[in-house]
Amino acid sequence: MRSPISSASRQRYRSRTIFSPVVLFLLCGIVSGAGVSRTVDSVVFACQVPSGEGGDRDSWQQPEKVLDAIGVKPGMTIGEVGAGNGYFTFKMARRVGPTGLIYANDIDQAALRSIEAGAKKRKIEHIVTVGGEVDNPLFPPAAMDLAIMVYVFHDLAKPVELLQNLLPSLKPNAPLVILERDPEKMPSAKGHFYDKDRILKLTSEAGFELVRVETFLPRDNIYILRANGVSSPPADPSDGHQKDKALPAVSRYELRFTLLLKENRLKAESLMKVRNDSREPVSEIPFLLYRLFDVLEVTDDMGIALPFKQTVVKFSDENSLQVNFVSVRLSEPLAPGKTAAVRLKYAGALWGYPEVMAYVRDRIDENYSLLRPDSLAYPVLAEASFQSFVAAFRLGFTYQVQTEVPAGYVVACGGKHVETKRTANTTAFVFESYRPTWRIDIAAAKFKVTEDAGRKIRVFAIPEDEGEGRRILEAAQKSFRFYSGLFGEVGDFPGYVIIEIPEGWGSQASDFYILQSAAAFRDKGRTSELYHEIAHNWNVRAKPAIQRCRYFDEAFASYFQGLAIREFEGEEAFEKYMNRLRDRFLQSCERDGKNGSTPIADYWREERGENSYTKGAWSLFVLHQVVGDTVFQSLISDFLREFRPREVDFKDFQGFAEKAAGRKLDRLFTEWISGAESSQLLRDKLDAGKIAERYR
Ligand SMILES: [Zn+2]
Repeated sequence: MRSPISSASRQRYRSRTIFSPVVLFLLCGIVSGAGVSRTVDSVVFACQVPSGEGGDRDSWQQPEKVLDAIGVKPGMTIGEVGAGNGYFTFKMARRVGPTGLIYANDIDQAALRSIEAGAKKRKIEHIVTVGGEVDNPLFPPAAMDLAIMVYVFHDLAKPVELLQNLLPSLKPNAPLVILERDPEKMPSAKGHFYDKDRILKLTSEAGFELVRVETFLPRDNIYILRANGVSSPPADPSDGHQKDKALPAVSRYELRFTLLLKENRLKAESLMKVRNDSREPVSEIPFLLYRLFDVLEVTDDMGIALPFKQTVVKFSDENSLQVNFVSVRLSEPLAPGKTAAVRLKYAGALWGYPEVMAYVRDRIDENYSLLRPDSLAYPVLAEASFQSFVAAFRLGFTYQVQTEVPAGYVVACGGKHVETKRTANTTAFVFESYRPTWRIDIAAAKFKVTEDAGRKIRVFAIPEDEGEGRRILEAAQKSFRFYSGLFGEVGDFPGYVIIEIPEGWGSQASDFYILQSAAAFRDKGRTSELYHEIAHNWNVRAKPAIQRCRYFDEAFASYFQGLAIREFEGEEAFEKYMNRLRDRFLQSCERDGKNGSTPIADYWREERGENSYTKGAWSLFVLHQVVGDTVFQSLISDFLREFRPREVDFKDFQGFAEKAAGRKLDRLFTEWISGAESSQLLRDKLDAGKIAERYR
């Protein structure tokens, strides 16, 4: 995953393209674990009880306890979206009694007829059936004391729109209850049902916030939400006044953190070099910081105070995200091309943004501390909008960061470890960037560190996973050796760091390091995700215009991952892996036909780069079949050697492949890269050898 702020990107956040839910900022295989894309069925409201279950539903569903937990009482008016066979409808009708009312909605007329028949049989008169639309339950306005969906939310074709249209039918403060299978409790539900992160992301997008989650059911969770009181302003970049205002950028950070673990707070100082790349002088510099951080002092590098204002505000285009917006006035306007220094001292508690981006659980804590840009643990130069925040990650910077922790703790960071300073009670770890980068990640815990003899690869495991750390180190070494053998050594390779983070905190990957979630860290079956991450070290950089195609990073890393699987686990495992990628691509086409009809070379236009993980990898698989092992290996290694120092596009790649193959490959590149005929070949489930025959 190489995108700045991976899943934080607004498009992904807003659109329902199915990226890993986990990560504001994550995208790679590792992040999503199960994969980048997830199955989302089209609208089948009536599915209700997950198939293959049923039977003694009362025993595992505990309906009366559920109704207690969500507060269903006599006299209430309740709107049920996707009432299906009416299992909950009738139980709620009984509970609210004749003075209450149930609106039972479904888009399936047959389901509604059956509820009507059931009501008649039971002599219940206070159930009103409502035929709804895919994106609108068509409930009366301001009528409901509570709205509920049971095993419905994951099947909504337009969850955000539906919730937005449901919202006006709720009375003020009325809860929205979503009862869903929890994939954590039932692994067989993975892929079909949404996990908590995804539910919270979609509901927050629609203007709801989480009140609490009830987890007492053996298979399900009950999410209780309410409208967050502020309707989302339409996100129209064309009228954003910030759009045309060029901002300067931070070109270097010098950070000093003191982690006060017992107090769950930090004290920090950030000295930033701010460069004005715009054509106009700039006098006010905006910074974003975590909402609970207090800026204590702002100076230039000579210690001269700079006037500043700080206010906690909501993002203008993402109102659930609160930040401390700090505006600093420079002593004189910063001319175009010039650099100024700004030093910010701040302190405060860090508790992440779990209510907005479930994985952002960054905190200062005796068990595990995590500081990332995702939580604004250090100042990001941007206006208070998601758009501006994401844009801030486009430019690289260098850094030096010192983090002081109590003795006994170890600080991990993706940068180069340059110094350890010890006192009787504290240890300070100093890291520097290897080269310009776009993010800084700092973790502190009582890590057990395992490293290889050359100290090139280091694994930071939480203490109970020390053994796993050794296994991970071996897998990393093995894949490094494999890729080096195939494609040559990575020039000026500085080393690689693998840092274990608690489950659910969102994996990340950047240059030369990953933060890997505990589950992936412990699960031998997921070792191959590490092969993918390590393969990124062999990436070339794409030209900026086509970078969002994700082809030259993710298609390559995903196919290399396959090659490593073949090497370490055998042909059958490789086939399985490639078939899984194909199936994931086909599912993404089913969700949205444009995933199939958009050529790989156009993915950037519509943020469809997720398909590079799947179809992109297949395009390399087919090329491999067409040219054979020997040519493929020398073609890829020559390509990487030749283009590592430069940025590439698809033409460069085609030209190189043709040179290596000694013939034109127009049809292959037309059907797979600049056109989309290849999608049909995948739909037909032809094997790669068969497909390759077209191009011989
Ligand atoms: Zn990746």
